[in-house]
Amino acid sequence: MADVRIPSKLLPKDGRFGAGPSKVPESFVKSLVDAAPGFLGTSHRQPPVKREVARLRHGLRELFSLPDGYEVVIGNGGTTAFWDAAVFGLISQRAQLANFGEFGAKFAAAADKAPFLDAPTVVSAEPGSAAFFQPESGIDVYASPHNETSTGVAIPIPQRISDDALMMYDGTSAAAGLPVPMSQTDVYYFAPQKGLASEGGLWIALMSPAALERVERIAGSGRYIPDFFDLTTAVTNSRKDQTYNTPSLTTIFFAAEQVDTLNRAGGLDAAVARCDASATTLYHWAETSPVASPFVSDPKLRSHVVATIDFTEEVDAAKVAQILRANGVVDTEPYRKLGRNQLRIGMYPAVDTEDVAALTGCIDYVVEAL
Ligand SMILES: *Cc1c(COP(=O)(O)O)cnc(C)c1O
Repeated sequence: MADVRIPSKLLPKDGRFGAGPSKVPESFVKSLVDAAPGFLGTSHRQPPVKREVARLRHGLRELFSLPDGYEVVIGNGGTTAFWDAAVFGLISQRAQLANFGEFGAKFAAAADKAPFLDAPTVVSAEPGSAAFFQPESGIDVYASPHNETSTGVAIPIPQRISDDALMMYDGTSAAAGLPVPMSQTDVYYFAPQKGLASEGGLWIALMSPAALERVERIAGSGRYIPDFFDLTTAVTNSRKDQTYNTPSLTTIFFAAEQVDTLNRAGGLDAAVARCDASATTLYHWAETSPVASPFVSDPKLRSHVVATIDFTEEVDAAKVAQILRANGVVDTEPYRKLGRNQLRIGMYPAVDTEDVAALTGCIDYVVEAL
């Protein structure tokens, strides 16, 4: 492989463009070091840790302008664990699930395996496009990814489909970067290693009164629910600023730092504006490049937090990613199972738009050198 050295004046200030885990600002790490003596290695049932959980929960309430009665519920195991918690504790009988990539498919598979539920309806679309809910009787949960991280497709959150069914969105990569009309959602859930610039292992669910009521009703119905996935336990613990079992204190701290940072900088609208600016920069570059083009053909579905960029045959995208990595610009590789000649670029709110612009210059330089 040609040994390409990108001139330092072209390099971004921070070379982390992963879709997740994603950039954790260095200032957060320094703040953690400062806070560590009274925080790390202390009990999660005592005030120093509970204060951080409270800081995160209050900050999220503000960031998402939660309507009255909505609650911030947290638990361990990341989004993947939350899918099973939702299967046990939020779907009464039958769900309709949107599948247009890896993550939508995984939740659909989890719901399909549950022996106590009816087989879900799955609305599907090819990677690079989106599937949309179809009103249907007998459905008690409609669920979709908000941003399909594997393909770089984001959907606008629609108006409610019905008054009785819960509207659930996987916001793992969308949260804090894409607009969300909370009143149209019942469960907006995510993990903090993407838009919240933190680490993994935690799930966060913003739940409406109807969702909280559903959790109570299913738990009281006699259905077998393993303790770890029991959402009534998660709700009770969250109200006390705790988790059922031991959480990662680092994850909670970084997430609280990012939420406070975003709230101070103008809240969700400002974070969305920053991601819009990064996305405009990147997609404009791709559209005018002779070798690159956005993978998602419909501009309205192109994600403003995770961009997927195809390359023409004459450019080996894997090699470009490899050279970028050797120069300290990391995690631009595409989602492995998509199998395209592509780069995937995380543009979460912690990523500077100037760094996204610098990245395009680096890609141009590498392509030219090859
Ligand atoms: C990353 C991701 C997940 C998986 O999250 P984990 O916390 O690793 O389980 C699920 N859904 C979406 C949309 C994601 O981007």
